[in-house]
Amino acid sequence: MFKKVLIANRGEIALRIHRACKEMGIQTVAVHSTADSDAMHVRMADESVCIGPPPGTQSYLSIPNIISACEITGADAVHPGYGFLSENANFSQIIHDHGITFIGPSADHINVMGDKIAAKETMRRLGVPCVPGSEGGVNTVEEAREIAGGMGYPVIVKAAAGGGGRGMKVAASADEIDIAFQSARTEAKAAFGDDVVYIEKYLQLPRHIEVQVFGDGKGNAVHLGERDCSLQRRHQKVFEEAPSPVITAEQRARIGKTCADAVAKIDYIGAGTIEFLYENGEFYFIEMNTRLQVEHPVTEAVYGVDLVQEQIRVAAGLPMSFTQEDLVPSGHAIECRINAEKLPSFRPSPGTISAFHAPGGLGVRVDSAIYAGYRIPPYYDSLIGKLIVQGRTREEALARLSRALSEFVVEGIDTTLPLFDHLLAARDVQTGDYDIHWLEKWLEAEFEA
Ligand code: ADP
Repeated sequence: MFKKVLIANRGEIALRIHRACKEMGIQTVAVHSTADSDAMHVRMADESVCIGPPPGTQSYLSIPNIISACEITGADAVHPGYGFLSENANFSQIIHDHGITFIGPSADHINVMGDKIAAKETMRRLGVPCVPGSEGGVNTVEEAREIAGGMGYPVIVKAAAGGGGRGMKVAASADEIDIAFQSARTEAKAAFGDDVVYIEKYLQLPRHIEVQVFGDGKGNAVHLGERDCSLQRRHQKVFEEAPSPVITAEQRARIGKTCADAVAKIDYIGAGTIEFLYENGEFYFIEMNTRLQVEHPVTEAVYGVDLVQEQIRVAAGLPMSFTQEDLVPSGHAIECRINAEKLPSFRPSPGTISAFHAPGGLGVRVDSAIYAGYRIPPYYDSLIGKLIVQGRTREEALARLSRALSEFVVEGIDTTLPLFDHLLAARDVQTGDYDIHWLEKWLEAEFEA
């Protein structure tokens, strides 16, 4: 087993990884920018190294600085968390070349899944159902018209290098394809430095359902059911739950097996998420994330496993601690993402937290790195914490969430906490009857009235 793990991240996920390491008897190294000297992950870790000035590009994204921190501290493994360098194949390779273990998949797998066209081709070959669309990239507007016309509108033009909901344009009819194609390309070039785009059938009212998979890198893989992340704003998840209110045990077993078999065939190692749009009883693959997800705790809650410890185990060459038969879901879990943002604009609201009280009690988990007196720096993502609740039934989880929210106190800054009380009062949320557009429509109706 590793002696010392360097955590190449910040905020709640850095703390999450630290906790997993400590329970396994592993020393931790925090890295931080000068803006994060007082951060909780730095305070908790056994050692810490400052890796640069506040901008992410000069600190948390600086590969040479992180490698230096590994060498100074003698870390034998690196956990990248999510975001930052977690899906950077080059980083994974360089870490490996320095004789350090990257706690995550191989550079090859990160590469393939990072290119959405290659990912789709790979998944189709492995028997995973995909959204109908162009075969490979679409290079000219004439080609775009022909493919879209053949498939039927509406269609969506997407960046091959896409992420974070950018570089995607919908064309509702033939009148809109030229502009959708051009603007997706321009946006893709600006955001990712790569203007390759492809076309997919645009599903009108799907849910976003993703399957958690886990492999040992030696041809064995399991699935840990699904998460329903349909409540999104600007393609960003806001509220996630497991299991999905609309998936049956039989559907779970079937799509789960398809996903586990697919990653087993490519000797995938560690945690991965296969994302689908789900409509009229059918699953359509959209992308695979080769890392731990923000919303992983809802899966941990219903399966009773520690996914970060499992990532560390397989990275160290140990077998997985569970088989598919061991993985039996129980109850229901919900996660709310709490951002330092002002409603209803969702504008970032950095500043100093004057008072903080986290809820507790049975079935309540708070993953957060904030504390009273902490100053949220303006340089990074606005996620300041996650509230995860668990109940024997969805109904119990919803009641528990409402109770936990009533105890939660964050003062001095604006947060998205009040959104969730509101959301819980909505009938469709109570019944689980929503699709990926539901939240935006509801926000518009709720806050503009
Ligand atoms: P990103 O990597 O930028 O998050 P995804 O491919 O995962 O991009 O898509 C993000 C979101 O965009 C999906 O959750 C869904 O809301 C929407 N979307 C993507 N592809 C389609 C499609 N073919 N039809 C309808 N909506 C889509």
